[in-house]
Amino acid sequence: MQLPPDIERILLDEATIQRRVHELATQISADYADVDELVLVGVLKGAFIFMADLARCLTIPHSVDFIALSSYGSRGAARSDAVRLIMDTRAPVTGKEVLIVEDIVDTGYTLQYLVRNFQARNPASLRTCTLTSKPTRHEVAVQLDYLGFEIPDVWVVGYGLDYADRYRTLPYIAALKPEVYRTAAH
Ligand code: 5GP
Repeated sequence: MQLPPDIERILLDEATIQRRVHELATQISADYADVDELVLVGVLKGAFIFMADLARCLTIPHSVDFIALSSYGSRGAARSDAVRLIMDTRAPVTGKEVLIVEDIVDTGYTLQYLVRNFQARNPASLRTCTLTSKPTRHEVAVQLDYLGFEIPDVWVVGYGLDYADRYRTLPYIAALKPEVYRTAAH
C-alpha cells in the first residue's frame, strides 16, 4: 500500500480497529443493558470518528454529545491545569449515565481533568472509553474503563487523530515519521 509521505508505518489497520470497536460496543451494550439511556460524551476533535463508529455499534438506547478542549504545551496537556474546556456539552449530564469517549491517553492529564470535571457535575455514573493509550507515557493514574489498544510512545495519526490538523481521515492508525514532528514546533 502506498502510504502518505509523512507516514512511517501502520500500527493498527482498518480491520483491526473495526473489530476492536465492535468488541468495545458489545461490552458497553452488555454493561449498560439495564439503563434508560447512556450519554456518550465525545472529546473533539480527535474522538469524532471513533465516537461515530462506536455509537453506531451500540445496541442500547444512547445519545451523543460533544466537548472540546484546548491544552497548552507541545505534546498533549503536560499538566491538567493546562487543560481548558472550550466547548461544553449541549445538555446537562447531572443524573445521567455518562461515558466519556476519548481518542488517546498520553500523560493522562487530559483524562484526569475530564474525569474530575464531569464527576463534579454529579452524573448517575461516569466511565471512560479510550481508543488508544501509551502506558509508558502515563504520568498520572487514569481511569481507563474501556480501552481499545495500548500503543508505543510514538506520535500517531489517523482514525480521528491528527498532526497539525491533518491525517484525521486515514482509516488506519499510523506512526508519523519522527523527523516530521521533531523538526516542526508542535
Ligand atoms: P495527555 O493529556 O494524556 O498527555 O494528552 C492527551 C492529548 O494529547 C490527546 O487528547 C491528544 O490530543 C494529544 N496526543 C497525545 N499523543 C498523541 C498522538 O500520538 N497523536 C495525536 N494525534 N495526538 C496525541
